[in-house]
Amino acid sequence: MSYPARVVVDLAAIRSNAGALAERAGSASVLAVVKADAYGHGLVPAAKAALEGGATWLGTAQLDEALALRAAGVTAPVLSWLYAPGARFADALRQGVDLSVGAPWMLAEILDTVREIGHPARLHVKVDTGLGRNGVMPVELPAVLDAALAAQSEGLCQVVGIWSHLAWADDPGHPTVRAQAEVFADAVALAEGKGARLEVRHLANSAATLTDPSMYYDLVRPGLAVYGLSPVPHLGAPADYGLRPAMRVEAELALAKAVPAGQGVSYAHAYTTPRDTVLGLVPIGYADGVPRSASGSADAWGGPVQVGGRRLGVAGRVCMDQFVLDLGPDASEASGDTVVLFGAGERGEPTAEDWARVVGTISYEIVTRFGSALPRTYQGEQA
Ligand SMILES: *Cc1c(COP(=O)(O)O)cnc(C)c1O
Repeated sequence: MSYPARVVVDLAAIRSNAGALAERAGSASVLAVVKADAYGHGLVPAAKAALEGGATWLGTAQLDEALALRAAGVTAPVLSWLYAPGARFADALRQGVDLSVGAPWMLAEILDTVREIGHPARLHVKVDTGLGRNGVMPVELPAVLDAALAAQSEGLCQVVGIWSHLAWADDPGHPTVRAQAEVFADAVALAEGKGARLEVRHLANSAATLTDPSMYYDLVRPGLAVYGLSPVPHLGAPADYGLRPAMRVEAELALAKAVPAGQGVSYAHAYTTPRDTVLGLVPIGYADGVPRSASGSADAWGGPVQVGGRRLGVAGRVCMDQFVLDLGPDASEASGDTVVLFGAGERGEPTAEDWARVVGTISYEIVTRFGSALPRTYQGEQA
């Protein structure tokens, strides 16, 4: 073990979360969102675990990730939705990746590519029902549908889906949720009225999947919940939804050393030891994903860790590749001891949600930043 820290991903947890979501979704299918390297959990292993657990579709923002799934032998339906002009549509078509149409130019460029290579497209028309992000605005929708269905009658494509994304699903009673659902229902009716035979209508992210069955339609698209985190921490913890966090981040103490009272700690001495004590040096920092805003001060610990069965917090500034703990005068820890930054929370360790709260962000950002920076190992592979 050369790097003194790692991300440990529990694939059994991902399987079990996908199973719990599939059960909750009832007759709707589950598309596991594996964008951003599966929220830092590792694209291919996480995608395979989600499929083993009960997801039947996968979704990525980037086409490159969809193609990486195909290159790894994943044959399940994959939808990809975010691109700029010049994207690898030809590769996507040849590899049987379903494509989202979120703007008129996307349809035009995809159809140009279909004509060029003679390989038809499976399209999901994305409607901007109110998020104000990617998607066809309702006023543009009739023209986009007409063009797509005309191309379908020429054999160039199949319009298999109508879909959209919610702005405020983490507040289930928010009026925008109902308003978006109404615009969505109109879009579906418009497409079907024009003769589209839709395979899947889909709207729900993790929050809607956990809180609002009226949003399920044919397919739900959870991301965060697949990795065992709650998108609605103010409403429920993962366990309340039958989910288990899949990511653990741990490091080895590089050093435990005695220092006197009044010792300034780390840059700018944001923390000063109030008494003779033992400092522990943890050899990861902001380059490894530890948010610099998790620094501690004289008044408050920073980001929480578990060491020797105790909860401590970052003392002083988080540096690029290290931070310090005040282990206390009676510390028994030694270099090489394990420090857990976060995990499932089942053994008293902090969770990604705890880090998010300290730093003022969401657990999505915590897992993606550690997952993309640190070496990753896996446990819980299927026998
Ligand atoms: C990221 C994303 C999701 C999943 O969101 P979660 O909140 O992680 O469940 C679903 N659909 C789209 C379009 C997304 O971009």
